[in-house]
Amino acid sequence: MADTTPQSWDARATNSMFYGFTDLPSIRERGAVVLTHGEGPYVVDVEGKRYLDANSGLWNMVAGFDHPGLIEAAQAQYARFPGYHAFFGRMSDQTVMLSEKLIEVSPFETGKVFFTNSGSEANDTMVKMLWFMNKQRGMPTKRKIITRENAYHGVTVAAASMTGKPYNELFGLPLPEFVHVRCPHYWREALRGETEEEFTQRMADELDQTIRREGAQTIAAFVAEPVMGAGGVIPPSKGYFQAIAKVLKNHRIPFIADEVITGFGRTGNTWGCETYDFMPDAIISSKNLTAGFFPMGAVILGPELADTLQQVTDEVEEFPHGFTASGHPVGCAIALKAIDVVMNEGLADNVKALTPRFEEGLARLAEHPNIGEWRGKGFMGALEAVQDKATKTPFDAKLSVSERIANTCTDHGLICRPLGQSIVLCPPFIMTESQMDEMFDKLEKALNEVF
Ligand code: PLP
Repeated sequence: MADTTPQSWDARATNSMFYGFTDLPSIRERGAVVLTHGEGPYVVDVEGKRYLDANSGLWNMVAGFDHPGLIEAAQAQYARFPGYHAFFGRMSDQTVMLSEKLIEVSPFETGKVFFTNSGSEANDTMVKMLWFMNKQRGMPTKRKIITRENAYHGVTVAAASMTGKPYNELFGLPLPEFVHVRCPHYWREALRGETEEEFTQRMADELDQTIRREGAQTIAAFVAEPVMGAGGVIPPSKGYFQAIAKVLKNHRIPFIADEVITGFGRTGNTWGCETYDFMPDAIISSKNLTAGFFPMGAVILGPELADTLQQVTDEVEEFPHGFTASGHPVGCAIALKAIDVVMNEGLADNVKALTPRFEEGLARLAEHPNIGEWRGKGFMGALEAVQDKATKTPFDAKLSVSERIANTCTDHGLICRPLGQSIVLCPPFIMTESQMDEMFDKLEKALNEVF
């Protein structure tokens, strides 16, 4: 129960803050969890209670909350050179080193990087780059962006318009230039008797029809997450990206991969596009880029888009866009260390090694009569609650079933995320076998208590 005495942390937190993306009835009834510090994959609240964070913060704290190498990298750079932008021909050495590193680890032979402070800003930056390029090349109406229903790309105006969630209607979004096609969730969206291959082909045909209806000459790009994250962890149907890439290639439309969650190891490879074997024209990165230790995003342009942007920018002599802290040296120093930690200190290997255990745990809990499906890739997983397993009938949204499961988990010292009717798990890459077992045991206990 929330403690509403004036000096309680609950009252102070609710009186002083306006909450985004929070179930307000839950917080009113239960109070806020106010945290003081973290220990590996655990966080600790003001009363000393420990929670295993199966959410990795917000998909991003992949190295845990107290990684000594990341703390040291931040402290050293703060002492050396605490802040600078990447404009007017001046930037820090760290910013240059990180740009080179990102191109080196990207799937591109050559490319260019632009830094932002978040994933949303990186998506907006990508859109503005495309609009700028197309306008300069005499195609001012080539502005539409195609994304998918249920996709999540952020909260700034363009990124929210790209996001395929109904709640954006509350803001009068999407803007007219943003077009959504269907979410490739085979289990939920397939027609009766449709095979997965047929479903994939239908998704590709629908994209093709959408492009023809809108006019390929009006479309600037298609943007997709390799695995939908905030949509409830939805991996693509079999062969989806190959079929989509073929359609986009026929219409000469750039394919942008939003790898804000999937980048740097989450799906078991450095990039989600590697896991699903497709080559995008640009990558949007954030979150794991700094292992959550600094707010930073990046647009990584592949060779064709990088060359085009360079050419059109040379003609006007300036690309008038950027954020005060773009390419912040402390963020870049942390990102350089984070990439090293994930790729060379065993974290990516741990994801690969423990993925079978993770999948077994999800599959075991999916035997519960009120779990309709488990989904996952690498260290991204979800369990979808249903009222009736055979008919896949969802619970009435008003019952907030996933919210109740997540709240019960919190009571047992486990943080996981309710998303729609699903419970999402995205453990930090440092999670051990026994911590993984603890995660599934606590979630199982919560499922049995709620149902
Ligand atoms: N793109 C994807 C795939 C995301 O999951 C998110 C955030 O969760 C964003 C973009 C937006 O990133 P940010 O919250 O840093 O603006």
